[in-house]
Amino acid sequence: MQTSFTAAQLSDPHVAESEKILRKCVHCGFCTATCPTYVTLGNELDSPRGRIYLIKDMLENGRPADEEIVTHIDRCLSCLACMTTCPSGVNYMHLVDHARAHIEKTYRRPLLQRVTRAALAMVLPYPGRFRAALGLARLGRPFAGLFDRVAALQPVGAMLKLAPSAVPAKSAFSSPAVHPPKAEKRGRVAILTGCAQSVLDPGINEATIGLLSRLGIEVVVPEGEGCCGALVHHMGREEAALASARRNVDAWTREIERNGLDAVIITASGCGTTIKDYGFMLRLDPAYADKAARVSALAKDITEYLAAIDLPTPVAQPGLTVAYHSACSMQHGQKITRQPKELLQKAGFTVKEPREGHLCCGSAGTYNIMQPEISARLRDRKVRNIAATGADLVATGNIGCITQIADRAGMPIVHTVLLLDWAYGGPKPEAIGRERTASSP
Ligand code: SF4
Ligand code: SF4
Repeated sequence: MQTSFTAAQLSDPHVAESEKILRKCVHCGFCTATCPTYVTLGNELDSPRGRIYLIKDMLENGRPADEEIVTHIDRCLSCLACMTTCPSGVNYMHLVDHARAHIEKTYRRPLLQRVTRAALAMVLPYPGRFRAALGLARLGRPFAGLFDRVAALQPVGAMLKLAPSAVPAKSAFSSPAVHPPKAEKRGRVAILTGCAQSVLDPGINEATIGLLSRLGIEVVVPEGEGCCGALVHHMGREEAALASARRNVDAWTREIERNGLDAVIITASGCGTTIKDYGFMLRLDPAYADKAARVSALAKDITEYLAAIDLPTPVAQPGLTVAYHSACSMQHGQKITRQPKELLQKAGFTVKEPREGHLCCGSAGTYNIMQPEISARLRDRKVRNIAATGADLVATGNIGCITQIADRAGMPIVHTVLLLDWAYGGPKPEAIGRERTASSP
């Protein structure tokens, strides 16, 4: 694609980066076929190619964002299916990140949107606040339908509907600690405790730490780590996202320099995509660029890490059929497609892949709150495809997808690591009923 940025515009490194990306796009439109919003809405402006044109026009003319571009960029899930499909290597992720930051700086949203977005940014990344908010949401849940009647209040209704009926107790595994290996030591890793996941399902990191310990891996929960910054990053709140990135880079760098780390383990693929991008996000900060690149290189999804080490013979023989739902951030963001399925098969599960596996379930960070209608359509489509597999349960590697699908799937949905932990000597996941195990008496 030809561009016509001025030399002055290109002196801004963010614009220069976006210009490089734009020039790679050859308008072929292959990406439209796999874009969930284009497939759902059928509007070119809700396709990657359409959004790329809108972003180009906005940046090239150096103008503030307007309602049209905000509408179509807000509808983008950042699922990155377009990047998997694109034959020209267009880095849509960095382009849309830049567009979102530009929107945040130049566009004044309607009052209710501003309040909702500010509330999400102030609550979700902080486990204590998030836990308190879920308690309140439980009380408000019976009234969720009332908010659906006013378009601007639909995000509030969506938030209430997504709130779980019970919040698990705070886990001791979320606090800074060193978990020693329970077999001959063969590695040392840090684990991201994260924010929303540690509140919604602390069992995911408990299972991860239990499994790694039994495999001889020392696991450290470092002092000072927190939310990866993805939630605010996708809202265009660049400074808040970079502050989260710097805090985590500092926490993990201290560990690397003190006792060494083989990997930073991440159990939520949405966070993994962002942490693997810290090197890019902090490339212009001389104090952090190298440290952030080192952290990004160490970041590993738990399935990526497990696939690279020798595993023993499974202890349990669950004999279950699992529909593997590959989160967008796993398959498109991190290009991890093979490892989770192979690990499940090696652990004794029969794995089925739902049709249209490349399409997003509609979760996408806060998307299911801010765009509840499109999100619900994608969720229902995903659930139909999962149900058609006839599997006993669903496995996935992202808490957002679990929350999005759980109520509708009609079968248990668990994080992949819970199944692996079970197969290799850990407890059976609570979500799986006894009657579903083939080995049940
Ligand atoms: S990130 Fe997903 S929703 Fe956004 S343009 Fe690409 S394919 Fe479409
Ligand atoms: S597939 Fe790639 S090159 Fe083709 S229109 Fe989409 S982004 Fe551009």
